[in-house]
Amino acid sequence: MSEPAGDAKLEVKQASKEVKESENAAEKFSAMTVSKNSEMNMGELSAAFSAVPTHKPVKKQIQFVEEKQEFSRFPTKAGRRSLSRSISQSSTDSYSSAASYTDSSDDETSPRDKTQVNSKGSSDFCVKNIKQAEFGRREIEIAEQDMSALISLRKRAQSEKPLAGAKIVGCTHITAQTAVLIETLVALGAQCRWTACNIYSTQNEVAAALSEMGVAVFAWKGESEDDFWWCIDRCVNTEGWQPNMILDDGGDLTHWVYKKYPNVFKKIRGIVEESVTGVHRLYQLSKAGKLCVPAMNVNDSVTKQKFDNLYCCRESILDGLKRTTDVMFGGKQVVVCGYGEVGKGCCAALKALGAIVYITEIDPICALQACMDGFRVVKLNEVIRQVDVIITCTGNKNVVTRDQLDRMKNGSIVCNMGHSNTEIDVASLRTPELTWERVRSQVDHVIWPDGKRVILLAEGRLLNLSCSTVPTFVLSITATTQALALIELYNAPEGRYKQDVYLLPKKMDEYVASLHLATFDAHLTELSDEQAKYLGLNKNGPFKPNYYRY
Ligand code: NAD
Repeated sequence: MSEPAGDAKLEVKQASKEVKESENAAEKFSAMTVSKNSEMNMGELSAAFSAVPTHKPVKKQIQFVEEKQEFSRFPTKAGRRSLSRSISQSSTDSYSSAASYTDSSDDETSPRDKTQVNSKGSSDFCVKNIKQAEFGRREIEIAEQDMSALISLRKRAQSEKPLAGAKIVGCTHITAQTAVLIETLVALGAQCRWTACNIYSTQNEVAAALSEMGVAVFAWKGESEDDFWWCIDRCVNTEGWQPNMILDDGGDLTHWVYKKYPNVFKKIRGIVEESVTGVHRLYQLSKAGKLCVPAMNVNDSVTKQKFDNLYCCRESILDGLKRTTDVMFGGKQVVVCGYGEVGKGCCAALKALGAIVYITEIDPICALQACMDGFRVVKLNEVIRQVDVIITCTGNKNVVTRDQLDRMKNGSIVCNMGHSNTEIDVASLRTPELTWERVRSQVDHVIWPDGKRVILLAEGRLLNLSCSTVPTFVLSITATTQALALIELYNAPEGRYKQDVYLLPKKMDEYVASLHLATFDAHLTELSDEQAKYLGLNKNGPFKPNYYRY
């Protein structure tokens, strides 16, 4: 995020202009109640949404474990070499064991060496096996059942085609839930080319179903690093088609376009980025003055952070641990490193099953929250010899060191819920005196010379994404947010968004949430005129100031 230029006076002027614009936006919304929101056409929605300037996002200070990635407009040969080495953590984090039901081991031929054609005669895709399309279609239909808000957005906006003319290149996990998003974008008028942000996470049958429907998908489960970049390249570098929007998860696609095809950015109207890592890269670019198009930071929208990070992890941590280890949690001593959104979700689930939970934190505020929630806040070294399970959720690196792994007790479990596989120093365990024994898929016993065993899950990669499934409903919330961010950036008149990173306006978060309330038959209370006046709110929202933390 670039710092505002100019002297203090200019800043004050600018700030008051923004307040006025926000008030105007609030007025625009005043005619629409939250329930009426659902009847808003896309033009109204877009106008109301975009009128709120958000180009001063609160920049999250997140520690990244990856080396800072430099984006250069003019890649050199050396640059290209380093690019292929710098495959991001997100792209190597496994996601798939439970998520995909396709056994890909029966056919060892690389999809790159096969010629495949869909039923319409197109071969503009590269997937494991196009014949799996029907099976993939069933997977997508199952996902649709729990993504009713996204489907309702699709139905409402279908006639208006707010994405007509949009050429979206996407790089995300390719799962049934993502397919529902992609098919929504297509229904709204977009043309899409898609690749996977993770070499393990593609559901082959879903990739086939999308290709059968005419989406140019380049992805399969178990890609090599070279395949990974080849697939990205095939999405971008194609004759007669140039993207004008990017939907990224992790920043690899954006990175590739910057390195290889900087001219493509002349046509790009905006980037929508989902992940912590990708957002961090965008802020770096912006700070360096190298961001040449507007970008939406979806990761930090309330509907992503509070639902994907908190509730998704609350729902999936136990699933991942139980599927891999059959462990019983009652009375077990568990230490959770990091009491942010992910940590809070994990702790809530563990506590509910009767585990004794310890927390480690570097931040006194989160530490105090943990205390108030009834957890003991300790240094890892204080409990390392007694705990049965260690779970890292910090987004940091080397949170559990080799020295600490050496001191863990026999039979203890160590796993990670953070983005990167360097939270646990797994590399330090690959030494000759330690024996690795693969006991199940994603489960390794690391055996010390004295016979002590530590159970390492998913080689330190994201446990829930590697060893269990993620609730579809949560993904619907994130996907709806992504779709709206794309619609907004694509339809925004020139000049509304500058070459900067923007947060979604609160009104938009509220809209995404309201779409999902129908699933629960939840009924909102409406403010009376008197109450609205008393609170100084518009009856139709936004209901909280931007600084509200939920
Ligand atoms: P957060 O910033 O809210 O929380 C991280 C916490 O870790 C912070 O409170 C921070 O103070 C603490 N911390 C940092 N270094 C530490 C250390 N050395 N020891 C102890 N505590 C430390 O972030 P979050 O939203 O909770 O996300 C955490 C990680 O989980 C990120 O890497 C994120 O990408 C990932 N994530 C995973 C999933 C999933 O499904 N597994 C979902 C969303 C996010």
